[in-house]
Amino acid sequence: MDQADSAAARRDLAFHLHPSTNLALVQAEGPLVISRGEGVYVYDEAGNRYIEGMAGLWCAGLGFSEKRLAEAAYRQMLALPFYHSFSGKVPAISTELAEKLVGVAPEGMGRVFFANSGSEANDSAVKLAWYYNNALGRPDKKKLISRRKAYHGVTVASASLTGLAFAHSDWDLPAPRFLHAETPHHWRGARPGESEEAYAQRLADELERLILAEGPDTVAAFFAEPVMGAGGVLVPPATYFERVQQVLGKYDVLMIADEVICGFGRTGNMFGSQTFGIRPDVITCAKMMTSGYQPMSAMMVSQRIYSVLEDQSRKLGVFGHGFTYSGHPVPAAVALETLAIYEERDLLAHVRRVAPVLQEGLRAMADHPMVGEARGVGLIGAWELVRDKATKAGFDPKAAVGAQFVRNAQRRGAILRVLPGDIIAFSPPLVIEEHELRELLAHAAGALDETWQWVKAKGLA
Ligand code: PMP
Repeated sequence: MDQADSAAARRDLAFHLHPSTNLALVQAEGPLVISRGEGVYVYDEAGNRYIEGMAGLWCAGLGFSEKRLAEAAYRQMLALPFYHSFSGKVPAISTELAEKLVGVAPEGMGRVFFANSGSEANDSAVKLAWYYNNALGRPDKKKLISRRKAYHGVTVASASLTGLAFAHSDWDLPAPRFLHAETPHHWRGARPGESEEAYAQRLADELERLILAEGPDTVAAFFAEPVMGAGGVLVPPATYFERVQQVLGKYDVLMIADEVICGFGRTGNMFGSQTFGIRPDVITCAKMMTSGYQPMSAMMVSQRIYSVLEDQSRKLGVFGHGFTYSGHPVPAAVALETLAIYEERDLLAHVRRVAPVLQEGLRAMADHPMVGEARGVGLIGAWELVRDKATKAGFDPKAAVGAQFVRNAQRRGAILRVLPGDIIAFSPPLVIEEHELRELLAHAAGALDETWQWVKAKGLA
């Protein structure tokens, strides 16, 4: 069945405004209507099975059929379907989750604020950085630095943090006070012969120059994903965060780790901060906290920051930030069950065990004429497709080579995602088994060859 031909697809095209989608293309090609999931697979309405190489949107850590999460939600809906955490109330289950999160967080996290999405968590962190500096009597210390190619979300503040053109062009963003530092990508950014360490030092020096040029008294926080996700699955060069942290410490700039993708096991540790030696003042997280089964995010702050907020409340009264659904009991119950399952099954050990299958499988294709770089860590990785391996020149974006790859992979039964710059991302459910990873890689390798034939036939390379 052609994707656009089903009744469900036609209804969708008539009524749905799709998020983060080429609206003209989806009208032409139709949506892929997914109706059910099982393990690491999803099924479309015609019954075709796909291995989900992206865990949906980097989030379904436990795959698509974990009944315990459904039962946890159901139990919680019967016991207390909604309650809030404003003005001194709290659902018991949300307290339990806050305690649990502080327990698994990197050292130094003291308090948890809940929100519904990664964007909201990052928006909250931006506001927190402003509020915190006002509380400390530093009204000018308000600028936020993130990196080009960062993805931090799409609300006004989080889209401003994001460093990708599609989040800014024609959206009148970034807002004032948002600055973007260089992307840490050794393969593209390093000078010939420059080691990862030397490159990392150069980036840290550049960051220091930026802070000095702006004035340290005007810079509040630095936002960073441990591994940059939607900007291209960019693993930081060795010692990068260590050197960046030294600069931030020198000028009293907060380190805010966006763990929305890396949090809860993606890189083989509970948090990406642990994998890369980051010492965050604030952590934002979401996605795999509930395995994506319920919308929920969190902003964790150090005890030091929390104390400043509490002091400020003594003067101002209300801490004036919170959402109706902050700490909603149903996603809280699902998050607790998710974390319990991660522990019972020792999912971190599983990720470390199977990660080499993904990483070696991706790198095994590094010789392919179209693969510029194969990269990744843990259960996240990518192929960057290029037109010319010697010069690293990419394809004309209009040729949509990456989108053709995704189509070819989908026809073979694998769902993968193309990121800007013809980068093919891999981020499967954490529960994926070795044989399933091999199946995913085989589909991807087939799609790569097929796409290469198409590229040659079209004269694109
Ligand atoms: N931060 C990162 C690192 C993300 O990958 C995402 C979403 N892909 C977000 C923030 C935004 O999360 P949400 O889509 O839930 O708003």
